[in-house]
Amino acid sequence: MPTKLRTLKAKALQACTSRGHKMSRFHNSIWSHNSYSKCYHCYMEVCVNDKPAPNDIDISGEAVALNCKHNYQIDIDNKVTTSCDSDDVNYSNKMLNKIRRLKVEARFLASTFDHDIKRFKTLKHLGDHYYMGTCVNCNAHIIVDMDPGPCRNVIHGLALIYTCKEMLNRK
Ligand SMILES: [Zn+2]
Ligand SMILES: [Zn+2]
Repeated sequence: MPTKLRTLKAKALQACTSRGHKMSRFHNSIWSHNSYSKCYHCYMEVCVNDKPAPNDIDISGEAVALNCKHNYQIDIDNKVTTSCDSDDVNYSNKMLNKIRRLKVEARFLASTFDHDIKRFKTLKHLGDHYYMGTCVNCNAHIIVDMDPGPCRNVIHGLALIYTCKEMLNRK
């Protein structure tokens, strides 16, 4: 991929993310120099063009101009660890609320990929900070990890990469 296009995509993605959108991968148009990406929540589009016409702009689309209608963002500050002072009742209550809230968020996020997550299991051998939900239709996992490594998100999993249909087609 040419570097200019890559830079444009990165810039476009950053702009859209800051407006609360959750963008799909870019798809190249076979007719032009345009690449498109769509928001999973509100379907607004962004378009990048590495060879714009003289009067044209290189990044365009509703998704860079308007906030996501869903107005939904994962709170990155949710990265917490379970290691400190778990004797404190207040602390554990706060923790429980946080976990509950994250599970709701995870289920909601997965539903934007058409998955149906019924409930979360704890995987004891991975520690009590790790909760896994499974889509009843395609078995895609979504994970709420209260103690993720440095490069992982609190919420992650295949259910946020593939739609339910794509998962079923992979089999
Ligand atoms: Zn959006
Ligand atoms: Zn599914």
